[in-house]
Amino acid sequence: MKYDNALFAQHLAGMVKFPTVSSADPDKTRVDDFFALHAYLEETYPLVHKTMEKEIMGKCALVFHWKGTGKSGKLPVLVCAHQDVVPEGDWQGWTYPPFSGHIDEEGILWGRGSGDCKSTMLAELEALEGLIGDGFVPDYDIYVAFGYNEEIMGGPGAACQIIADTFKERGIRFGLVLDEGGGVMQTENGPVATINIGEKGYADYEFWVEDKGGHAANPPLHNALGKLGHAMWTLEANPMPLRLTEVVTNMFKAQAPITAGEMGQLKADPEANWDALRRICLETRENNGFFRTTTTPTMASGSAQANILPEKAAIITNSRLLPGDTLEDLEAHFRAVLPEEVKFRLVKGHNPPAISSTESAGFRLVEQVTKAMHPGVTIVPGLVTGGTDSRYYCGLSDSVYRFVGGRNSGKGGGVHAVNEHVDTTTLDSSVEFFVRIFEGYADAE
Ligand SMILES: [Zn+2]
Repeated sequence: MKYDNALFAQHLAGMVKFPTVSSADPDKTRVDDFFALHAYLEETYPLVHKTMEKEIMGKCALVFHWKGTGKSGKLPVLVCAHQDVVPEGDWQGWTYPPFSGHIDEEGILWGRGSGDCKSTMLAELEALEGLIGDGFVPDYDIYVAFGYNEEIMGGPGAACQIIADTFKERGIRFGLVLDEGGGVMQTENGPVATINIGEKGYADYEFWVEDKGGHAANPPLHNALGKLGHAMWTLEANPMPLRLTEVVTNMFKAQAPITAGEMGQLKADPEANWDALRRICLETRENNGFFRTTTTPTMASGSAQANILPEKAAIITNSRLLPGDTLEDLEAHFRAVLPEEVKFRLVKGHNPPAISSTESAGFRLVEQVTKAMHPGVTIVPGLVTGGTDSRYYCGLSDSVYRFVGGRNSGKGGGVHAVNEHVDTTTLDSSVEFFVRIFEGYADAE
């Protein structure tokens, strides 16, 4: 197996050139761009396409299956990534055009999707292509799943729901699932690997107030938009309560030895220090996302013209649910703090998925490989405050980790912003991570 970062960079640049944008309106997703990417992958990874069975699920999800010898008696492994990217935003803001895949003298590759999430697709495919080239044959089955609407939170028609349902129908369960979410950071206390074992839930709500409207020259004391604005202020001022969950407790304990100052001491025993952690959060918002379900207004609408009073004012909010909370809990909270004239409905959302085990053979393998590749590394079982496609597979495995093992040099950035970029000089570390996972899985205990 040869780890050639210059070649990996070229392949990644090739992938970035396809503008596989997932539009908030699923009918506007340009499926042709996804199929063009598939053709490029077929050219670039001929051994994967020769050895593994390829299936298109839903509109354009890519699923590969490598039937192993079965000698290990182990459940299959699933590795994931998403093909879609967020819209490129304002082209004026990009130093290099967003779908050019420009690589500069320092090996930084610029373009939408370079970091999120095509570098993960690349690592998984390079690892498989390399292993097949070396004559490796797994003693268990390997699956690869690349969805196409992660960035719009799936919603109805989520690619990975279709994939997970298909796996379920076929009676397939997994011993290990890996997806985007974490890597190995270099810190002044040495490398830190955050292996994310859980993620928060997600919900978009629409809130609205109806009114009789009329001429803006004769306004009431509070019109529909004013009432709704007040309601949002009320929601901000009365958030869901702070609480300490098991996953965050364990994450903090793992982080304690590498966290400086007072916070390091507090994290060593979060239960005993809960009052202090709580107080700091209330004063500074530090760890707010880890301690509670959050809700924040993000989009608003009123009347169609400046001199018309709104007959309906509407606001969309975005919520992230802490493990243990459900959509019903959140809705009960809305009803408790808001006046009755403020109506709401769920636009889309899901409860937090199950937390994966840190006691499984899959977790231990990920930990062992990471320790072998990064001597002195601190392993942190973490919680993602965002969302990933891996949640769809939580019903099919106890070992779903949002971790791809790559060394994070700190030189990448711009995810979901203009000038997204990735450091191609560290791509080999993520490729090697997957190679070692595939090589080690049959014997993992
Ligand atoms: Zn992503």
